[in-house]
Amino acid sequence: YVSIVLFTADLRLHDHPPLRAALDGAREVVPLFVHDRGVTDAGFAAPNRLAFLADCLRDLDAGLRERGGRLVLRSGDVVTEVCRVAAEAEADEVHLAADVSAYAQARERRLRRALEADGRRLHVHDTVTCAVAPGTVTPAASDHFAVFTPYFRTWSAQGLRGVLRAPRSVRVPEGIASEGLPSRTALPGVSRGLAAGGETEGRVRLAAWLRTDVAAYADRHDDLAGDATSRLSPHLHFGTLSPVELVHRARGKGGPGTEAFVRQLAWRDFHRQVLAARPAAAGADYRTRHDRWRSLETAREDVEAWREGRTGYPVVDAAMRQLRHEGWMHNRGRLLTASFLTKTLYVDWRVGARYFLELLVDGDVADNQLNWQWVAGTGTDTRPHRVLNPVTQGKRYDPDGTYVRRWVEELRGVEGRAVHEPWKLRDPERAVAGAYPDPIIELADGLARFKRARGRD
Ligand code: FAD
Repeated sequence: YVSIVLFTADLRLHDHPPLRAALDGAREVVPLFVHDRGVTDAGFAAPNRLAFLADCLRDLDAGLRERGGRLVLRSGDVVTEVCRVAAEAEADEVHLAADVSAYAQARERRLRRALEADGRRLHVHDTVTCAVAPGTVTPAASDHFAVFTPYFRTWSAQGLRGVLRAPRSVRVPEGIASEGLPSRTALPGVSRGLAAGGETEGRVRLAAWLRTDVAAYADRHDDLAGDATSRLSPHLHFGTLSPVELVHRARGKGGPGTEAFVRQLAWRDFHRQVLAARPAAAGADYRTRHDRWRSLETAREDVEAWREGRTGYPVVDAAMRQLRHEGWMHNRGRLLTASFLTKTLYVDWRVGARYFLELLVDGDVADNQLNWQWVAGTGTDTRPHRVLNPVTQGKRYDPDGTYVRRWVEELRGVEGRAVHEPWKLRDPERAVAGAYPDPIIELADGLARFKRARGRD
């Protein structure tokens, strides 16, 4: 019989349980990707992610061709297209990776209903887009963990399935029509410094990361200028790398660097099990703090300055400019820019989360929305009233100002850590920094407003 593998956020051939299951059972397999109109209609098809996706699809097709197959590409409503291909190929079953968002959960239900109505089966595989599937580990009396540390303890004790090799050959039935492959160069609005996508690229990056840089990760992951994190997040988002394989390979190497790295991978799974149990947390506060965020009317100019990287706080501006230029931002930058927006400016986290999703190549409903909530104090953080001071953060995580000078052109002539407080400069550096804006807000005023608003003065 014939099987369909519907690729979604799992654009790889290595360690791919749905593909393995399909190949084990069927004579022929249709590897299918649908440019889903539902994703575009939801405003989720940002240029940077479409560009990265184009690389991924080209690479997936090339990998399949090396094995005697090819990728079938369609666009439209995902359920309609799968059913259409299933009819054309006379397929008996469809294999799909489990996913957690409300959208993905609804997609799975619709797909199952439509396929079963035609007498076909849907097989859903977990541990494709995460290492430990949501719901596998739960605390007593709840369907998910709300606190990371106990989750991590239980997560670490789980046995993981083995890593699956990429298939040697894939036979695809003749005559199934496919659209042409997309190309990133045809897309408008893509960040100039955007990383390249695709499984081949991801595997090269992973190998280099494990060979050299991961050893120093525990010490250097917060070093803004050092840029010493893995940058594997877009590959995890698009599934060009497998989380199960990453955990196995990192553990196989051992050492404090890999332990710290594996702990970060557990954060991904943590957010997935929260969102799977509380899909509404993508848009609604996970924990109500009775915030009355500033209206967008009052805050408009501040939000604009934040988006454009001209708040007058150099490390905030550097990070926001990195985001625009690369479609990616260092984790420390994400923490301090999100804290600045939600706490210093007291603007609703959804405003910031939406902007991040417009640009981030790794923009992910689970990781973006729940990290924003974590920083805003409406999420699972156990210290919701903590406020990050951008000057202290800059001095601590960019001690000699290299990161700021890399991204904030106006301050390139200012030496050392003085770059973090341009308002204190004296001539001649003050003259050099003249084009850089004054702070849009006094930190003390922001802090006082936040404490009043949260009822904690
Ligand atoms: P590394 O430090 O090398 O970590 C390895 C991997 O662990 C990452 O690739 C990522 O998959 C995972 N990871 C690390 N930290 C976290 C975390 N806090 N939460 C979940 N997973 C984590 N990450 C996304 O993948 N997509 C997002 O949309 C996203 N939005 C964020 C928004 C805010 C406000 C904040 C504070 C964080 C966000 N993160 C998001 C988490 C984190 O910043 C990025 O995963 C990380 O910066 C990616 O760089 P890296 O691959 O070099 O990470």
